[in-house]
Amino acid sequence: MLPIATDPQFQSLLRYSAVIGADPSLVQAAGGNVSLKRGGVLWVKASGMWLAHALRQNIMVPVDLAALLAAVQRGDGAAVENAAAFVMPGLDATGLRPSIETTLHAMLPHPVVVHVHCVETIAWAARQDAAAVLAPLLDGLRWAFVPYVRPGAPLTFGMLQVLRPDTDVLILGNHGLVVGGADTEAAAALLAEVSRRLCRPPRAAPPPDIAALERAAAGTDYRLPEDLATHASATDPRALDVALRGSLYPDHVIFLGPGVSTDLASGRALVLLPGAGALLKRDASAGAAALARCLADVTARLEPSEPIVALTAAQNGELLGWDAEKYRQQLDRT
Ligand SMILES: [Zn+2]
Repeated sequence: MLPIATDPQFQSLLRYSAVIGADPSLVQAAGGNVSLKRGGVLWVKASGMWLAHALRQNIMVPVDLAALLAAVQRGDGAAVENAAAFVMPGLDATGLRPSIETTLHAMLPHPVVVHVHCVETIAWAARQDAAAVLAPLLDGLRWAFVPYVRPGAPLTFGMLQVLRPDTDVLILGNHGLVVGGADTEAAAALLAEVSRRLCRPPRAAPPPDIAALERAAAGTDYRLPEDLATHASATDPRALDVALRGSLYPDHVIFLGPGVSTDLASGRALVLLPGAGALLKRDASAGAAALARCLADVTARLEPSEPIVALTAAQNGELLGWDAEKYRQQLDRT
């Protein structure tokens, strides 16, 4: 057993990971990640692994922190995007790649860093004016806003523009939340505080029309989602209006493809039948199902009248064309 496995901070971070990994309002599927800095080693979640499985599987990969930060300082985007090159093989027991968001963890100085796709945060962060409307809500916290850029090197260099030495909360436009703390407890308390301040009660949605969905799915390669909450983005007209604006955050694109459709003939992973409910492709992965539920949670918190901004076609395309994400999609399918 690696010595890190008996480190009490490592253990408490894994316990916390399992808790947030099981909370769909914070983490969906293989999204979100955590890290612990110990003696020059950045222990970070492996790409494609689920935080929910943190206590059952070895999901953490050791990365050479100084070498990775040196690549950031040099502005070496190619090196930053290939964090696998910084894995410390003598310490690694997984053979997995580090998270595609590893540099995000490296750049905050805090011993513990937690990144989640908190639906309360995403609902605000999908607004054109996110930085301005968040300012009064996060007043008194040491926070910064990073406008949307693709995760990986662009996000790393975007963070460099806004990070101050004491920043411990980052809101990522059209993406999510990052917090840093001296230990797991501090990071968890800060995350809870931000989520509480950004809380927007979801609208109640009309129930799905299960009979209509079954009729629509009969003879097609679509099926009903197991999670009934998924239907809300189709049964609530205001949520549907928001959902049809396009992809609001990267993992939607990775797991479901760009945007959504209301047409079964589209062949899309998720189809929203207005007033009836949601249908998933029969072979949709657990990841796709989790992101379909996430869409319902995010759109239930937004009004069509808000200045919502979706990812552009080019932004969708760069996510789908990126090798690091193809690897994560492949792990999701297996
Ligand atoms: Zn993320």
